[in-house]
Amino acid sequence: MIMTEDSSNMHIRAVVSRGEKSYQSSIRVVPVAHDYGDGYYKYSCPICGHFGLRLQLTNGEERCPCCGVNLYWDKPQSNGV
Ligand SMILES: [Zn+2]
Repeated sequence: MIMTEDSSNMHIRAVVSRGEKSYQSSIRVVPVAHDYGDGYYKYSCPICGHFGLRLQLTNGEERCPCCGVNLYWDKPQSNGV
C-alpha cells in the first residue's frame, strides 16, 4: 500500500510504504526537480534543502548521499515530448 502525503508548509513530498509489520514500513521522499528549460532538470534532496543545503542528486539514486534518506523517483519528468 502506498500513500502520498503532501506537507505544503515544508514543501516535502513523502511516500510511505507500509509493510505487513510496522518495522517493514519505510519512508521515501520525492526529490525536488529544478527546471532548467529544454527538458533539462536537476534534482535536489528536500530534506537537505530544508536545512539550506543544495546537494545535487543523480536521477535514480537510491538514497541521498548527504542525509541518507530513501528517495522516491516519481514518473520520469517530461517536457511534453
Ligand atoms: Zn538529503
